[in-house]
Amino acid sequence: MRIFRDIEGLKVWSLDQQNASRRIGFVPTMGALHEGHLRLLEHAQSACDVTVCSIFVNPVQFNNTEDLKNYPRTLDKDLELLEAKKCDAVFIPDASEMYPETPQVKFDFGNLDKILEGAYRPGHFNGVALVVSKLFNMVMPHEAYFGQKDYQQYMIVSRLVKDLSFDVKLKCVPTTREQSGLAMSSRNARLSPEERVRATILYRSLRHAQAKLLEGKRVSEVKTVVEEMCAQAGCRLEYLSLADRKNFAILEQVTESADCILLVAAYVGEVRLIDNMMMTE
Ligand code: AMP
Repeated sequence: MRIFRDIEGLKVWSLDQQNASRRIGFVPTMGALHEGHLRLLEHAQSACDVTVCSIFVNPVQFNNTEDLKNYPRTLDKDLELLEAKKCDAVFIPDASEMYPETPQVKFDFGNLDKILEGAYRPGHFNGVALVVSKLFNMVMPHEAYFGQKDYQQYMIVSRLVKDLSFDVKLKCVPTTREQSGLAMSSRNARLSPEERVRATILYRSLRHAQAKLLEGKRVSEVKTVVEEMCAQAGCRLEYLSLADRKNFAILEQVTESADCILLVAAYVGEVRLIDNMMMTE
């Protein structure tokens, strides 16, 4: 497995792959790898000739300095996992390699970066769009793999690719869960064993809300109950929202015409977690 810390080395390798007509599959991550990340890699491997994984805790997408400081970092273990999975190349730049100067470009995604994660984490999607654009220019992948777990992020990146004409095919991979239903996340490493049990409330909330909305209940009614469920589990609900999967318009009820997604964010102790579920799942 090739390990690149500098952009130039990575680019030379990527160009060699292009010249040899090998299709490059790319999995961008922030490390502290888990099964969910590895599923993305497997999807990339089954569709492409070579795979690149990046590990970079992108400072500009953190709106909270404590969250950045506490973000789990397990580089040695990550590299072992990727090597064992036969990933072809890993890109692990440091912040000065990615941002030699303070970036000035700002993105505006209209409604999409103002709601849900965009509303609760100001500047987050600007940082995501920036780092993904830079990584696409460096890796030059044919395909890039993202998780449904961060569905709003996938929507943002889809818009970015369309508006900036990136020549890359995006793939959205279903969420990998623990047996308990808890969506795998690097941030789960920050949960105590007891909090990990409490954190299943996100999945249980989604399932509960899904059933009630399908019975015709309104989001506002369901949200009140879910808030109470979360409080009883010792967690704090931040949002529970229903959105049209195609344009992310926020909906108050399930409609026959819309393909809907339910999204949730909640604090379990100090740790903020998100999850989502298609209404058809
Ligand atoms: P992160 O390292 O958290 O930035 O995640 C890197 C990529 O892995 C993103 O596209 C995430 O959506 C995806 N991902 C994270 N957790 C999961 C999961 N449980 N299942 C599927 N994809 C995931």
